[in-house]
Order: sequence, then structure tokens, then C-alpha cells
Amino acid sequence: MILLDGKLIAQNIKEELKNEISKLSKKPKLSVILVGEDPASQVYVGHKEKACAQVGMDSEVIRLSANISQSELENEIHRLNQDSDTHAILLQLPLPGSLDSFSAIAKISPEKDSDCLTPYNQGLLALGRPLVKPCTPAGVIEMLKANDIAIAGKEAVVIGRSNIVGKPMAQLLLNENATVTICHSKTVDLKEHCMRADIVVAAAGIPQLVDSSYIKEGASIIDVGIHRKEGKLIGDVNPLGMNEKAFALSPVPGGVGPMTIAGFLKNTLLLFEAQQEN
Ligand code: NAD
Repeated sequence: MILLDGKLIAQNIKEELKNEISKLSKKPKLSVILVGEDPASQVYVGHKEKACAQVGMDSEVIRLSANISQSELENEIHRLNQDSDTHAILLQLPLPGSLDSFSAIAKISPEKDSDCLTPYNQGLLALGRPLVKPCTPAGVIEMLKANDIAIAGKEAVVIGRSNIVGKPMAQLLLNENATVTICHSKTVDLKEHCMRADIVVAAAGIPQLVDSSYIKEGASIIDVGIHRKEGKLIGDVNPLGMNEKAFALSPVPGGVGPMTIAGFLKNTLLLFEAQQEN
């Protein structure tokens, strides 16, 4: 079995970006809005800040209190939409329960939408013409391609239907001409679906939900899940026994996570370049 080394692929992407950015007279900037004190979100935001610095991009983290009102949050998004020094905006999710994330996301200018989350950009994605690609799903496709794993004509099963991972993942696989099944919490026999798949993308947010008995011989398994257990990171896939059965598996950590961060950097540069042309 081959391990899909997202860390290495992301490192190569970052080297390329660093080189491109070093030639620019102005630096692209990613502005991140972090509401509240969610520990996992603070870690993810820290990783994004560090990655921006590594490639020579500017970044700013706007830390807002968990008690902020919806209109105060949306005013902050509006301010960043207008700010010519901000080229890409990331609203770190999840938001505290009192806030409406759909409404807040919809306020982000599609031209500054770093993760293809706005209704307009999701519409373009569904039409197969995305302005920017959603970071995590795009990272999955890039990992498959970097390892010469064919997608066109293959049976792909996506576990999860969230707006941030599952649904855009299915769209990107469809755009690559896979035959796509989306499984979710109400799917009757998840195992049966997975057993026919050439590609399984696990994004249910349930620790080690998928084990080797779910897998067809020679399938490629992408583990999107991230969970902390006893000080260690684990995914939605139980790697035990996969070695003998799967063709490829993305590890946790070191698989999809670094690809997602590289996606934010790529999108920030892409949006920056588009804004320079206007
Ligand atoms: P979510 O909770 O919004 O969505 C989970 C989805 O899984 C839902 O659509 C639900 O219907 C489905 N689901 C739940 N139980 C199921 C079951 N038993 N069988 C089949 N489907 C089931 O989560 P999300 O935001 O999409 O994230 C999913 C996981 O991916 C989480 O662990 C999250 O931390 C991780 N994640 C990782 C990255 C990364 O960069 N690696 C990025 C985003 C999310």
C-alpha cells in the first residue's frame, strides 16, 4: 500500500508559491476571522498564519469575542471586503452557536472567498466552473493526481455531506468524471456502498468509522477526519489491516490536513492575482 504523503506534496506546493510570491512587488494577504476560543480552531488558525509566513504572504488574525452580535460580525466581514490590502478572507468555522454561519458566509465577497464557501462560488462549483476551489476537497483531488491514481470512470464514495467537505468533494470528483455516491448519517448500509468503491473519501467526523472490512481490494482511501484522542491525532479511518487490502491510504496526521493549508495559500495568491487584473 502507498501512503499518500500530503505533507510532502504540500511542501512542494509551498516552495512553488514562495518562489512566485518572491517575484511580486506587493504581498498577497489572507485575513482570518476567529470568533471565540475554540481550542481546535485556534490551532488551525495558527497553522495557517505560520504557512503564510513560510511562503512570504501577509496574514492577519482578527480575534472576536464569542459574545459578538451577528451584525457586528457581518460589519467586520464588510470592512474586510472593502479593505484593498486584504485579498482573501477566511471565516474560521464553526462559529459559536449563537451566530448564523450561513448568513455570515454569504456576506463574504466571492472575489475574496478563500474556501469557495459563498453561495455564489458554490454555485459556480456546481456548474463545474469554480472561481476558487474548496481547500480540503481540492487537496484530496491533488493528492490522488500527484500519486497517479485515476479518477475518471471510477466509483467514488464520499462519506459526509457537509457544505465544507462532503458536498464540494462530490462536486470535484464529478468534475473529474468519477461516478459519485454521497453517503451520510441516514445512509442505510454504509459498508455496502464503500465495498464497491475504487475511491473512498471519509469525512463523517466519526473516529475510525471505516475499517478494512469496508474496503474493496485495491481501493484508495482518503481520510479527512481529524480527532484528538489521548494526545494523538486520529482520523475517520482505522488504518489496521489497510496495508494488506488498500492500494493507497492518506495518513492522519500528514495527509489531508497539510493539503488544506496549502489550498488556502494557493487560493489567496489566485484571488490576489485576479484583483490585480481588475
Ligand atoms: P460535519 O459534522 O459538518 O459533517 C459530517 C457529515 O458526516 C454529515 O454530513 C453527516 O451526515 C455525515 N455522517 C455522520 N455520521 C455518519 C455515519 N455514521 N455514516 C455516514 N455519514 C455520517 O463535519 P465536516 O465539517 O464535514 O468534517 C468532517 C471531518 O473532517 C471532521 O472530523 C473534521 O474535523 C474533519 N475536517 C478535516 C479537514 C482537514 O483539513 N483535514 C478539514 C475540514 C474538516
